[in-house]
Amino acid sequence: MEKRSGDKAAAANGAAAPKKARTTVLRRAPPPKKDPEPQPGHVAAEEEPKTLDVTLASLDALECPLCFAPFEAEIFQCKNGHAACGSCCDRVRGTCPSCGDPIGAIRCRPLEAAIASMLVPCSFASAGCDRRRLRYAERRAHEASSCHHAPCACPLPGCAFSGLQHLLHDHIRDAHHQAAGDDGEGAAAAAVGFVREATVALRRSEAFRVLLHAQDSRVFLLLNGGGVPFGRSLSLLALGPRPAAAGGGTLEYTVVVRAADGGGGALSLSASGPVPCARRWAGHHPTDGFLFVPDAYWSSSGTVSVTVHLGTEAGGRGAGAGGRRQALLDASCTTK
Ligand SMILES: [Zn+2]
Ligand SMILES: [Zn+2]
Ligand SMILES: [Zn+2]
Ligand SMILES: [Zn+2]
Repeated sequence: MEKRSGDKAAAANGAAAPKKARTTVLRRAPPPKKDPEPQPGHVAAEEEPKTLDVTLASLDALECPLCFAPFEAEIFQCKNGHAACGSCCDRVRGTCPSCGDPIGAIRCRPLEAAIASMLVPCSFASAGCDRRRLRYAERRAHEASSCHHAPCACPLPGCAFSGLQHLLHDHIRDAHHQAAGDDGEGAAAAAVGFVREATVALRRSEAFRVLLHAQDSRVFLLLNGGGVPFGRSLSLLALGPRPAAAGGGTLEYTVVVRAADGGGGALSLSASGPVPCARRWAGHHPTDGFLFVPDAYWSSSGTVSVTVHLGTEAGGRGAGAGGRRQALLDASCTTK
């Protein structure tokens, strides 16, 4: 369209004196409803977005001053201009901690607009990530669970290792797994390797069990959380980036729990869903999507029987051949 109008102008210019024609176009007020057909120079100026490369000396303005997380969605301010993210407004019950005025009703639109327009490179660009124009609001999620160049942190207490997913797998296998295999009790049984099936003993007192998938070099955490009355919460977390979309769909889990010594009767408990992925475990247990295991299911010695199945929900694209990935990740872990 732009070209055609340009051609038109050029054709008109061809017929009349070029300079005169151009002057006429410039002077003409733009028609209110017609397609804009101003002089070519004008068209280009209107359609090219204005951009500005900026270096920020400090990121303070882009972070919530209460929780220090990057502003990503709605930003609120009190009438004195103190800003806070939406979840902090809820947390402080709508009272600005700086001045005591109400906060949570007035949006800070200019800052929201500025953040929405910001494109930034992934922090792991130097490690090979090619996402150089991420939206600022999406960068944290990309780096936390999607970036295949971001290092994953070893979850074991006192260990500072951090490396790519397969390196983390090898690290845990070599540095932590040996001790794990020998000793069924105590801090030892930290990690269990599995290909298709593995046996672990999940104790009530342990916060998590590491499951190492050798074929895919993936690390899973079977999280055993407290904080729920009259029982425990079991959930699964994959330490590493979400599998690439082309690799075929979502990673799915099924966890089945049976009472270790028949204390809970023949009933088993189960939960299933997509496996959340993160490159570090922050130490808290997911509050959504967990399996509640009542106290009665834990044996007198404090163990429970857990079976974990992993598979990949075949994605829509190329599901025919991609479905075989399911077999790769089939696994089960059981306790005595
Ligand atoms: Zn906040
Ligand atoms: Zn305030
Ligand atoms: Zn990245
Ligand atoms: Zn480690």
